Amino acid sequence: MLLANDLLCCGSPAVSLVLRSTRLVAVILVVLVLFGGVLAWRLLDEPLPEAGPDGTSLPAGQGRVGYVVTRQGTTLSPQPGVAGTRVAANLIFPVSGEQSGALEVLDNCNRTGWVAANDVESGIVPIAKGEDMGGSVFVIDPGHGAPDLGAVGPGGLTEAEANIDVSSRVIELLSESRDIDWVSGSVTPGTTYHAAAVAVSTRSTDGPNRGDYELGLTFRAELGNAVDATALVSIHHNTQPTHDTEGPGTSAYVSVANEESPRLGGLLVDEVRRSLAGFEADWVGGQRSLVARVDANGEDYYSILALSEVPAAIIEGAYISNPSEEELIATGAFRQAYAEGVYRALVRFVLTDDYPIAEPEPELYDPDSPPRSMDDCVTPR
Ligand SMILES: [Zn+2]
Repeated sequence: MLLANDLLCCGSPAVSLVLRSTRLVAVILVVLVLFGGVLAWRLLDEPLPEAGPDGTSLPAGQGRVGYVVTRQGTTLSPQPGVAGTRVAANLIFPVSGEQSGALEVLDNCNRTGWVAANDVESGIVPIAKGEDMGGSVFVIDPGHGAPDLGAVGPGGLTEAEANIDVSSRVIELLSESRDIDWVSGSVTPGTTYHAAAVAVSTRSTDGPNRGDYELGLTFRAELGNAVDATALVSIHHNTQPTHDTEGPGTSAYVSVANEESPRLGGLLVDEVRRSLAGFEADWVGGQRSLVARVDANGEDYYSILALSEVPAAIIEGAYISNPSEEELIATGAFRQAYAEGVYRALVRFVLTDDYPIAEPEPELYDPDSPPRSMDDCVTPR
């Protein structure tokens, strides 16, 4: 039909071909304009992605949902599209999958569940990380959480409480651009080191019970994996020292499986110890500042290190079991110094090849007490 019409109209097959091509182009243009309009309308209709309460948002197209933060009324379901149980607001869950508007998450008790994507805040993480602070992703993990209080000081101060405060301070430092005086160690607002692309904690003080609730070790490691963290740092305070020391007995546990973990741990010890050395105390310590504990199979003893696919380390700032140190740990100034030490360590981890403490020899660790069971773990409602 078209061919006959063209021939009737214009006679020459060559002219006909040109006209046919022109019509084809016109039809394609109309389709493109219509499609573009629909797409633009869809984009406008789509709510802009937002980061969690302690994350930083990224421009559209450069990010993906790595974690979610629950809202008032968010429900957690065993399967996508199935009725779920209402959970508390401001819980942070790593995202492991997606299916027609639902996101697969791991809850704080290491259980898989599903949330509706439009029922949570999306924690956007970069698709491609950068090589500077502005392109980096950090997970800060305050150790323990009620009913697991961690070590408790002679004056009653709990690790769970001190750890989350130090973590919040690290998140705050990472969330704005900073200057560092590398002589004094002081960290101030500035322009030299960009805010991290993402800085998220495994539990935050915005959460239920001011963030004092239980987290599984798998959950903690999974958050680091889900966001493909540049580094995962678990914040702790120590107990059971072996002897008196001249300065802070800061130490770190590192992984035997991850090449970058010992360097991360060494930097954390180096910088946190430097920060805390500015305080007066009857310091105590242990035998080594960098420790790699393994089970009978030669694998990482601590689950968070064993399950982490990103560089991870557990930092033990000071001894909460020591009355003199517990008194300091109770103060904001000491916690801020701890946090600034962690921050400087992360800056050096990203921007330098510094390797301040030699990689430790793995040591067998086989305690009598079994690891904590998660059977009675509760997801806050
Ligand atoms: Zn601990």
